[in-house]
Amino acid sequence: MQKDRRSVTVMDIDFVNRTQYQFLVEDIFPALQHKEKKFIVTANPEIVMKAQEDDAFKKVIYEADYTVPDGIGIILAAKLLETPLEERIAGFDLALDLLNYADEHGLSCYFLGAKEEVNEKAVKRVQADYPNIHIAGRHNGYFDIGDRDLAEEIAATAPDIVLVAAGFPKQEKWIAAYKDLFDHGVFMGVGGTFDILAGEAKRAPEIWVKLNLEWFYRLLQQPKVRFKRTLKLFGFMRDIIKNKKRYK
Ligand code: UDP
Repeated sequence: MQKDRRSVTVMDIDFVNRTQYQFLVEDIFPALQHKEKKFIVTANPEIVMKAQEDDAFKKVIYEADYTVPDGIGIILAAKLLETPLEERIAGFDLALDLLNYADEHGLSCYFLGAKEEVNEKAVKRVQADYPNIHIAGRHNGYFDIGDRDLAEEIAATAPDIVLVAAGFPKQEKWIAAYKDLFDHGVFMGVGGTFDILAGEAKRAPEIWVKLNLEWFYRLLQQPKVRFKRTLKLFGFMRDIIKNKKRYK
């Protein structure tokens, strides 16, 4: 993980402290142009908490070139630590910007993740909305992390962008384990992005996002699945407040 003045540390994780636009224009688009290799983690409080509890996962995050603040919890924590972040960079928005860029420049993308029918639908939607993207390939997210043959097959397609939508920590672990097989590419774990692209899940309407209540919208949409995860968000905030001095 690169450490420079343009980063802010929250619970031992260095976050990109630039606007989404700056981050893309200064680092990611040039990396795509020059066929470099970059690994982006989009981290929310749950991911940061997981890294606190699990050293192996923390190592995976440290292997990334960039960790971007995905989630209002990270923004609030940075504010409480008196090192405010420039802005929230949501994984879904970043994925769409990458797809737009790929479409404009005729780049190739690989789509790894989600249920088979969701993956298929999402890729069809990408083909329709971004006709100049070359689909390097696609595979559902229910693979075994130890399946090296699959990783080699994907690497052989030489994609410029690899979106992995298999939920954390699986998606980040997969990228860290296999990115060396690839010659170049921008790799990013994108959680539920394919579900949204496929129309299986809805992104929170703009107004909820603007009011920083996307987490609450998700809780209302999927109370059973999200309840425990929302509690973790509050646990994270409590931990930041309790240990403010130590994290500063
Ligand atoms: N998923 C997957 N493989 C798995 C577990 C989950 O492909 O072994 C997919 C799941 O179908 C869904 C996404 O990963 O499309 C998880 O989305 P979520 O919003 O929960 O992402 P997270 O917040 O965990 O990153």
